[in-house]
Amino acid sequence: MQWLAALTLAAGYGVYGIWTWGLPWAAVTAAKLVPVKWEQHLGEAMMTSLAPGAKPCWGEVAQRLERAIDGGTPYKFEVRCAAGEEVNAFAAPGGSIVVFEGIRSRMVRDELAAAVVAHEMQHVLKRHSMQAVFRGFALQALFALLLGDASSLAAQLAGGMTALHYQRGDEEEADRGAVELMRRAGFDPRAVAEMLEALREATKEGGAPPEWLSSHPDLDGRIAETRRLAAR
Ligand SMILES: [Zn+2]
Repeated sequence: MQWLAALTLAAGYGVYGIWTWGLPWAAVTAAKLVPVKWEQHLGEAMMTSLAPGAKPCWGEVAQRLERAIDGGTPYKFEVRCAAGEEVNAFAAPGGSIVVFEGIRSRMVRDELAAAVVAHEMQHVLKRHSMQAVFRGFALQALFALLLGDASSLAAQLAGGMTALHYQRGDEEEADRGAVELMRRAGFDPRAVAEMLEALREATKEGGAPPEWLSSHPDLDGRIAETRRLAAR
């Protein structure tokens, strides 16, 4: 039954190929095509489900950064602060940014707050958030097809919206963009490295790494790189 083994192997490679190249490519491509208005609607829906009680905060800092975006932006950014000690922040597609108390309380100066916002803005501007939503959808659809369980597909798709997992490389891209945007807005760009250091301290105290850091564990490398970029 050599042909069967070969067929199984080919199928395995097929799935592996879709997984490693097909999905990221499709997510990036699809995310580019989504109108900003749709992103905003999706983002609003995510905000209501993920951080229902979040209140507007850091408004002046966000406006100053938004005005400094190179070439302007179709996005309307809004930062909201949420209760909860988790060291976490996320950007929904369309420009809604949520910062949990675990991060907010540690950003003791405007420039540190700006560094968080500048970083999260990049995930929206570079459409990382939208890509993450698409990848979440596609992965779950793929699982459902492989397991022959299409009945629960709809429920799984809905579940996929509750977590944003960025790709390797997205965090570094967001860090670089943040340093640049901070500089353009007249904030000290070194605050990005300082913000990451504060998060590193927070994760040491808190034990389990937060979601947005665990997607890329090399925090030391990111701190060194942002410091280097800010010194240029
Ligand atoms: Zn990030």
